[in-house]
Amino acid sequence: MSEIYKGSCLCGAVQYVYRPSREPIATVVCHCLDCQRYTGTAFGTYILIPSDDFSQTGEVRSFETEVAPGRINQRNFCVTCGSHMAEYGPAFPGITILPVGTLDDASWIKPAAQCFAGRTQPWAYLNDDIRKFDALPPIVER
Ligand SMILES: [Zn+2]
Ligand SMILES: [Zn+2]
Repeated sequence: MSEIYKGSCLCGAVQYVYRPSREPIATVVCHCLDCQRYTGTAFGTYILIPSDDFSQTGEVRSFETEVAPGRINQRNFCVTCGSHMAEYGPAFPGITILPVGTLDDASWIKPAAQCFAGRTQPWAYLNDDIRKFDALPPIVER
């Protein structure tokens, strides 16, 4: 892959560049209740990428959540506008979890898995071709 992808928070204070050395590790939609509350809508959509392919400037604030008992993920948001920015943490070593809505162009994103499908809101329709998992799919659960 030779493209370079850029993105930012809503106010523009946090900017990032994603230079893919390979395809994303996973592209997922997550229906878990944490993602619903954090995004303020029905689900989060993310690409999981090698952290080495990602660089960001601007100030974020962080807090930790458990994706499973004892597995900590760090959520980050712009200190000015609160936009949900890239996540990382010991639950996902070497991986950055990028919310795709922060990309300047997210039209190329192709979700391959739906996480925590049992939590899907009855009014949130997605393509049935996107595989459903009760929790995190194996590619994420490593
Ligand atoms: Zn911002
Ligand atoms: Zn989630």
